[in-house]
Amino acid sequence: MARLIDYFRLLIHQRFYSEARIKKYQQKQLKKLVDFAVRKSPFYRDLYQGNPFGSMEDFRRLPLINKQMMMDHLSQLNTIGANKEELIRFALEAEGSKEIGYYRDEYVVGMSSGTSGSMGIYLTSKKLTRKLPFVFLARSGIPLSLLPYNILFFLRVHSQAFEDINSPFIKLKYMSTMTEIPQAIDEINRRRINILMAPPSFLRLLLPQAHEIKKKPEIILTYAEVLTPEEKQIFKDKFGCPVIEIYQASEGQMASTCHYGNLHINEDLVYIELYDEQGREVTGPDRITTKMIVTNLVNRTQPLIRYEMNDLVRLGDKCPCGSNFRVISQIIGRSDDILYFSGYKEGDGEAEGNREIIHIFPDVFARWVITQNPNIREFRVVNRKVNQVTVTIDLFREEPEAGADLKARLLAELSEYKVPAPEIEVVCAPISLPTDKNKYKRFVREF
Ligand SMILES: [Zn+2]
Repeated sequence: MARLIDYFRLLIHQRFYSEARIKKYQQKQLKKLVDFAVRKSPFYRDLYQGNPFGSMEDFRRLPLINKQMMMDHLSQLNTIGANKEELIRFALEAEGSKEIGYYRDEYVVGMSSGTSGSMGIYLTSKKLTRKLPFVFLARSGIPLSLLPYNILFFLRVHSQAFEDINSPFIKLKYMSTMTEIPQAIDEINRRRINILMAPPSFLRLLLPQAHEIKKKPEIILTYAEVLTPEEKQIFKDKFGCPVIEIYQASEGQMASTCHYGNLHINEDLVYIELYDEQGREVTGPDRITTKMIVTNLVNRTQPLIRYEMNDLVRLGDKCPCGSNFRVISQIIGRSDDILYFSGYKEGDGEAEGNREIIHIFPDVFARWVITQNPNIREFRVVNRKVNQVTVTIDLFREEPEAGADLKARLLAELSEYKVPAPEIEVVCAPISLPTDKNKYKRFVREF
């Protein structure tokens, strides 16, 4: 019953709260969270010394933390007195075994390798993960008409938290993204699923065999990686069903899709501050945010308060669904996905002295590649040094001119950005997903 109340509370917040009501709610939750953290976490007690929290301005003056700091001080940061080394040992053991359990019978230990390769440990209480089915029902964007949900779910790593989503109305079967494609197709056919959940890179692996899926899923949900608008359309066409996104990180459940298909920040689960490259707050669709500061409003076991992430997002306009939760029109990537070229300053003529670094955002570069040739299944861009990139393309079928054509297109597009002479190499080669725990990265900057 308590969980049903949670479910309705989540619906009411998202659908009916006014902007003022959301702000008031967040301020109250933030205050409670900071008070709790200062009482129970030696790390925050030290960090916030001499920083009273009365107003939101006070909150925004609290020192930032990041993943490195979180890991360096993990033993002092969590509020249950858990030791860092012990947690890492537990997480590694859980990963290697089929039996996933709870730490001290009470807590889920999540582990992420992250794009930089540095490990992150995230503790959540069992009580909180037990609420997940209802959060999922209220916020996944999957229509209730598809109940009971029969989901096949592809992800790199398994976690106890996924098992906790299983309930009478949600059946969730996990498979690793390292599963061979024929086996994945077999499983989709055998289970007669209605919902397929997978990262975009795995869906792209399925694409050449999409026609072998006998019963089309009713809906596809993607996560963990960027889904470009162009690829969303391709998936829709090839798999024959709607495609929606969920924006979730180890740090929190950032955003989910509404019945209009738009991503809304979960303003009652996370408090997100957005800033641009100049450090100015971003409140509308006009600028891309390069700094995202996240506070998880619901996790008391390992409080994350003003935690800095480098996700690039663009906000959207108000959604016709009526929700006052902010809309994210596009998740663009991470700030280390931005490509660096050498070009001329706007309006300054083309003399050598007028050279400057030109930033090309990953969504723009991806659009050039994807719209160039529908025969490109997957690609990877390595920015070796400023003004030099190697683009690897994996084609559905052999096409001798594909590399040269793409190179010509990229040169033309970059010259529009006043990048006159980039070094571009295009290579045709098969691309597979990483076999370790790392995420597939399309954009790699090596400096
Ligand atoms: Zn909406």
